[in-house]
Amino acid sequence: MTNRTAWIETELKNLQEAGLYNRIRTIGSAQGARLLVDGRNVLNFCSNNYLGLANHPRLVKAAQDAASLYGVGPAAVRSIAGTLDLHLALERRLAAFKGVESAITFQSGFCANLAVIPALVGKEDMIFSDELNHASIIDGCRLSGAVITRYAHNDPAALEKALEENRGKYRRGLIITDGVFSMDGDIAPLDQICAIANRWDILLMVDDAHGEGVLGRGGRGIVDHFHLHGKVDVEVGTLSKAFGGVGGVVAGSPQIIEWLRQRGRPFLFSSAVPAPDAAATLAAIDILEESTELVDRLWENTRFFKVEMRRLGFNTGQSVTPITPVMLGEAPLAQQFSRDLFEEGVFAMPIGFPTVPRGKARIRVMISAAHSRDDLQQGLEIFQKVGKKLGVI
Ligand code: PMP
Repeated sequence: MTNRTAWIETELKNLQEAGLYNRIRTIGSAQGARLLVDGRNVLNFCSNNYLGLANHPRLVKAAQDAASLYGVGPAAVRSIAGTLDLHLALERRLAAFKGVESAITFQSGFCANLAVIPALVGKEDMIFSDELNHASIIDGCRLSGAVITRYAHNDPAALEKALEENRGKYRRGLIITDGVFSMDGDIAPLDQICAIANRWDILLMVDDAHGEGVLGRGGRGIVDHFHLHGKVDVEVGTLSKAFGGVGGVVAGSPQIIEWLRQRGRPFLFSSAVPAPDAAATLAAIDILEESTELVDRLWENTRFFKVEMRRLGFNTGQSVTPITPVMLGEAPLAQQFSRDLFEEGVFAMPIGFPTVPRGKARIRVMISAAHSRDDLQQGLEIFQKVGKKLGVI
């Protein structure tokens, strides 16, 4: 028999030579400002644990209590024997938190996108998608079978032009944008996009994975940030970033949510989120509703770190959120930078093609409320040392 997978060897070698091979490190501790990574205690600048909730005692206790009561396995998909009272409570609380009428949860944000997009549009329809939308949006769009028209990143005029050019060529239209773009940390001009959706009378969906717990009053997300309550048809979110647990959510009108209970394929064909995870997210919502302290700290940390990085001479791109790209250019430099940071005790991963365009490789620093001022100060000193060594600053 010939070796039918020899091409994989070649492809892997190509990735290594281009500096694009992803060496995955192993975490040996709970999430927080410091992590045990490959056996070393390092400062953590990688996680999406925006509010430090992933190891918060109240979430841990809620998960433990739920495990005692419900066990650990869901044992069924939601539509057969998997919907717990906890899931319904979580959906009610998420809807109330976001100020929408209804919500439905999924196993992940990725699943939420795969569920909602094909449920809303099909072969006769057209999706207008920001060119930098997340991979899960792209996959959801492809699964739907709709024609996908990409418009220039965060450019309402380009969106309007695309709508104009395709007038009358589809049955239903759907505009999709990320809220906060995960690699650049910039925010979609959702107010302008919403005005366009209204003018053209087509559906609007935003993926707020990096906006929930971050933007808006007390972390209520991008719709709150722009005061667009009731004007965005679909809000997708994840429970695995600021909320500290795991899962995904779609929020919107009762009609859309009921349609997803009937037609959302990850809901119908993949087992439910386990009870401890649902309970942990409920505890996260309690914390967010009680106080804005964590969200405020996240933003204080973000402002401090960004100002200091720029003062050191680093290019932090277009970011206006806790996502702080440190722009380096070529992928091998980003990989070297990350390795040197790790040697000095900082865990910050390089990001290259295809996650970001070629020539736009970077280190992505994720700021968290879990960081103390000392943590950030130490991180800055190490960034400065490595930046000088590699001739970046
Ligand atoms: N959408 C966006 C914009 C994301 O950044 C992510 C996570 N990387 C997801 C969806 C997927 O979320 P999850 O990790 O819950 O599957």
